[in-house]
Amino acid sequence: MTPLIDPFARPITYLRVSATDRCDFRCTYCMAEHMQFLPKKDLLTLEELDRLCSTFIRLGVEKLRITGGEPLVRRDILTFFRSISRHLESGALKELTLTTNGSQLARYAGDLAALGVRRVNVSLDTLDAAKFTAITRWGRLDQVMEGIRAAKAAGLRVKINTVALKGFNEDELFPLLDWCAGEGHDLTFIEVMPMGEMGEEMRLDQYWPLKDLRARLAERFTLTDLAERTGGPARYVRIEATGQKVGFITPLTHNFCESCNRVRVTCTGELYMCLGQEDMADLRAPLRASEGDELLEEAIRAAIAHKPKGHDFDYSRQKVAGQVSRHMSHTGG
Ligand code: SAM
Ligand code: SF4
Repeated sequence: MTPLIDPFARPITYLRVSATDRCDFRCTYCMAEHMQFLPKKDLLTLEELDRLCSTFIRLGVEKLRITGGEPLVRRDILTFFRSISRHLESGALKELTLTTNGSQLARYAGDLAALGVRRVNVSLDTLDAAKFTAITRWGRLDQVMEGIRAAKAAGLRVKINTVALKGFNEDELFPLLDWCAGEGHDLTFIEVMPMGEMGEEMRLDQYWPLKDLRARLAERFTLTDLAERTGGPARYVRIEATGQKVGFITPLTHNFCESCNRVRVTCTGELYMCLGQEDMADLRAPLRASEGDELLEEAIRAAIAHKPKGHDFDYSRQKVAGQVSRHMSHTGG
């Protein structure tokens, strides 16, 4: 089977799938408070999601990340993990993982670990309960902390993803580092991206460039850049004093598109070749058009042949450029 290679000679080996656009939180930078969610009938069924992922795996995808919305609020999501984990057993899939807000981890961590999940990314922007509720609108910090503890207890490696937000968590840089070091969690910071309608002013107000965050770290610690990449867009530094590794995902200050190996599928079967572009291919129609996977495979190959070179996000000159109208929860962050 010919593997998936895009026009810029990048092999596509990493698929991110949004299992649902729904979520039990309403993080201010991600969703509006009153979101219009997709009608349930438009969603791929769990069986269709399995067929779709299995086809990508047949075409060479080795790493699968389930995201959303909040993947763990999708009803029966464990059924999907259970069935897709057969590809881990066969060796075709090297890694099955998820990005979660952590609210349901206490319930699911043990089962996920038993099914072969080894790592989870948990999004956490603050360690302060009141600030947590302010940023997530509906979330409770203690519930997420319980979930993180359950993940650790189940043997899952936890990576904390923190969106760097000016005026919100600047003062928690060192407390977050210390907490992660103490708990043995990896920590990665993310620059806030212009996704979803949200006043330009608000985006620019929120934007805390990671080069500034890094400079703050460097005032206190000696940092060494690491060549290491984990198949994702993060770049890492090591804090020499403690050996702790910190990741930076910098779509704005450092474009990482040249090494992009991934594509994304939404919960309705839209294939986005690039997170930062509007271009997409519908996979639901070919999926539903026949019981075999030939049409689906053809549609995937045709789409990959049009994967764009990169995104156009840019905040320079105090303007938000390259904005895409989809919310992050739609494409799957
Ligand atoms: N609900 C899960 C969670 O929060 O981890 C998975 C989906 S969420 C959309 C995935 C990641 O995208 C989270 O780490 C979240 O902080 C991040 N995110 C959401 N909107 C963003 C934005 N506009 N810019 C940068 N990161 C964003
Ligand atoms: Fe939900 Fe994750 Fe978006 Fe927050 S970032 S609203 S938890 S999908």
